[in-house]
Formats: sequence, structure tokens, C-alpha cells
Amino acid sequence: MQRFQLYIDGAFTDGSGSFDSIDPATGQPWAVMSEARTADVNRAVDAAHRAFRSREWAGLTASARGKLLYKLADLVQAAAPKLAAIETRDTGKIIRETSAQIAYVAEYYRYYAGMADKIEGAHLPIDKPDMEVWLRREPIGVVAAIVPWNSQLFLSAVKLGPALAAGCTVVLKASEDGPAPMLEFARLVQEAGFPPGVVNIITGFGSECGAVLTAHPKVSHVAFTGGPETARHVVRASAENLASTSLELGGKSPFIVFEDADLDSAVNAQVSGIFAATGQSCVAGSRLLIQRSVKDAFLAKLKAKAEAIRIAAPDDMTTEVGPLCTQRQRDRIDTLVAASTASGAVLVTGGQVPEGQGFYYPPTILDCSDVPDAPALSNEFFGPVLSVVAFDTEEQALDLANDTAFGLASGVFTRSLTRAHRMIRGIRAGVVWVNTYRAVSPIAPFGGHGLSGHGREGGLAAALDYTTVKTVWLRTSDDPIPDPFIMR
Ligand code: NAD
Repeated sequence: MQRFQLYIDGAFTDGSGSFDSIDPATGQPWAVMSEARTADVNRAVDAAHRAFRSREWAGLTASARGKLLYKLADLVQAAAPKLAAIETRDTGKIIRETSAQIAYVAEYYRYYAGMADKIEGAHLPIDKPDMEVWLRREPIGVVAAIVPWNSQLFLSAVKLGPALAAGCTVVLKASEDGPAPMLEFARLVQEAGFPPGVVNIITGFGSECGAVLTAHPKVSHVAFTGGPETARHVVRASAENLASTSLELGGKSPFIVFEDADLDSAVNAQVSGIFAATGQSCVAGSRLLIQRSVKDAFLAKLKAKAEAIRIAAPDDMTTEVGPLCTQRQRDRIDTLVAASTASGAVLVTGGQVPEGQGFYYPPTILDCSDVPDAPALSNEFFGPVLSVVAFDTEEQALDLANDTAFGLASGVFTRSLTRAHRMIRGIRAGVVWVNTYRAVSPIAPFGGHGLSGHGREGGLAAALDYTTVKTVWLRTSDDPIPDPFIMR
């Protein structure tokens, strides 16, 4: 079995514990991961805290930080095939997706590399004579970054990139499910030449590693991606250190198709929106809202596509849907599908755990049009399961779209420009895609409302989240300070 170590203070090291990582395609252990327990988390945070104040890091110019990030981007690009193979083995995400996504991850590091020396302060036209007042943008401090299993290299790039550009130091906790790609990525951090302690990469279980990290008194900001229930723990823990938080959580995103849409394009986008990444995507377009006049035609095309999807081993370039990351996840999905059909939802396709090894689950479509309280409509599956609801009018479509506690992503398919604008205005979500779905870019902010969290990743604003403002007052007069009892 392969072994992976933690990366703390610039060195690879064993944690106080260890655990087996399971290959989701076979259900068998394939690697041993070092596990960070309390003492290891403390070591990592102490290292990050020392590095934050060190001459080697704090003394670097912003441009020099940017150069380190450019180097990291080049290394990620060169190592993309190797990282992709490891991610595929450890998480079951198909090689077609990991290869393309990791190559694009390099662009996120490049984007933030270029931003490092563009994070500017400001000069204020203050209302007092003999006074200069300006704002310095300074790094917020030690950042705890926590990611779930899906797309860890991507989800960590949107935290590490802006945090390092801003001058922070980071302890990144990889998920206990499929952490190998992150621990391998640590080699690139070391090779890029970041001073020891600037980036620490650990893994372990939420109950100890995650809890200790998020409550640590030396942590100033927690950047979390995961589920809403865990986010509540994170926010409670951050009350200990009064750290700021950014939360990227789940979704139950509406995918709305009007009768005037290009139905073939919409079908393809819907397939990508719910079955890509085996549905383990926070932005999964998991609620299809379809205008009743085209429902049968649309569902017939979608069913045919779903049933033609090639489900096979994730390391095969021709595979379109691979296994789920964990048995726990597959069992949860299966239970939720069963509860939904029991409540009256109609199974259009899928819904059966296949025979054989590995954590596979077929592309599944549930028609919930007559069952407004079907569990499938309110719960995030985080798997390849689409729930369908028919609507008649635009108003109904909007009401249904917003009938969720989440608010992450949404898709609108229509050829009417005016209707598209009305929907854009009315939908409560952090992202609206019109006649497209799942497009992302380092340049475009991303995040949600409600149970989907708060804060934005990507774009300029994300880098500012990792800074704090220092207001500087400088008196330019050599005259003695006059009356000390009056504030001026
Ligand atoms: P999860 O919340 O169970 O775990 C996420 C991370 O939190 C893991 O690293 C885990 O170890 C850690 N954790 C668990 N308990 C903790 C605690 N008490 N304190 C601190 N950390 C703790 O999420 P998951 O089930 O692994 O991932 C799926 C969820 O992530 C879905 O809801 C999905 O929508 C969401 N997600 C959101 C985005 C986004 O950008 N909005 C992206 C990907 C995934």
C-alpha cells in the first residue's frame, strides 16, 4: 500500500494516527494516510503562526509572493496528469474530469499570482489640517482552510491562491475521504520554495482535527467548504477565537427550462449539470423545473441520454460516470431515493444499486411533479439524482426556484431575452447561468446565500477577504500638541 504523510513546517512528517484510504472503484484499501490529531494540528498552527511573522515570509514583497504563486501554478500544470491519477484513485472522480480540472487549477494560482501586488490600500482626504491618513491592506493572519472530498485541488486553490497573495499563512485540512491528492500537492508547495510553515497540509477527522483547527486561538480566518451541518460546528468553534469565516456549502439548485428553449442544448447542459462528477458537485442542477408543454419531450430525450451514459472504472478515459467517493455516500443516496419513491415520486430511470464491487449508483431521475413534499426536492443528494417538477407559468417557475433553504446556483434556459432578465432578477442564488451551466473561472466570484453559506471565492473580492484594514494617522505639524482634553 502507498503511504502519504502530513506536510508541516516545510517537512513531511507522520501524524499521531493513521487510517486506510479506500479505492471507491473496488471498495478495498489502497493507501495509508497519516492522521493529524490534536498535537499535530497544534504543530501545524504554531508553524503557520511563526511563519506569518517571519522575515522569510512577512519580509517578502508582494511581487515576490506573486512569483512563488506563479512557480506553484507551473508546477501544478506540469504535475496535473500525476495529481489527476491520484485523485481518481482516491476519490473515484473520473480521470476525464480530474485531468481537465487540475490543468485548469493552475490558472487559479496564476490569477492570484498576478493579484498579489495589486492589493492596494488607499489615501483618505481627511477633514483635518496637518494630518495624513491612509489605509494599509494587511494579511488577516493564519487561515484554517477546510475542504470536502470532491475536487479538493480545485477547492483548495480558491482558498490558498487569494490567502497567499494577501500574505497570509495557511493550515489546509484535506478531507479524510480521498486526501491523497492534497498530500501529493504538498510536494509542489515545497518545490515552489514557500518558506517553511507558510503552507501546511494535513488530514484527519472532523471531530478532532477539524474541531481543534477551527477553534485554535492562533487562527484568524476559517475558509470552509462542506455541508451546512458541519458549517454550524465550524461557526460554533470559531466563536472560541472569534475568527471570521467564509462558508461554501451545499445546494439544491434549480435548472429551469422554458418551452422556447433549445431543448437539445438544455438536455446536454442538464446531463452535465447533474451527472458530471457523478453528481458530487455543490452546483449540481438537481431540481429540473420544466414547462409542462415540453415536459414529456424533454424527459424522453433526457432519459435516453441518462441510460446511454457509460458507467465504468474511473481511470478509463471513456468512462462518463464513476463510483461515488464513499459507501456512506452511496447508502445515503439510496435511502433518500427510496424515501422519495415511498412518498409518491415516480422513478423515470435508475434508482437501483448495481451488483458488483465499488460504490456505483446509476444516473437516476425522479418525477416529483405531484409530490411537493418529496424528500428529493429539499435534500441535497450530492449524487447522480435529478428531481423533476413541472410548471405552467413564469411566476410558478420563479416560486419553485426560490422554494429552497439553499441559494447557490441556478440555470435558466430560454430564447426570450426579456424573460431571461426577469428570471435573473428574481432568482435568489449566488450564480445564475443563462443558456449554459457549470461554467467557472478564477475571474468570476462564486458563492451562495442561506444554507449555501456566505462569502465569495474567485475574483478580486476573495483576496480582500484575506486582508484586514489598518488605518494610519500621521500628524505633519511640528507645533506642540494643543489642548490635550479635546479630541481632534
Ligand atoms: P462535510 O461537511 O462532511 O466535510 C467537509 C470537511 O469538513 C471535511 O474535511 C471534514 O473532515 C470537515 N469536518 C467535519 N466535521 C468537522 C468539524 N466539526 N469541524 C471542522 N471540520 C469538520 O462535507 P462532505 O460531506 O465531505 O462534502 C459534501 C458537502 O460539501 C456538500 O454539502 C457539498 O455541496 C459541499 N460542497 C460545497 C462547495 C461550494 O463551493 N459551495 C463545493 C464542494 C462541496
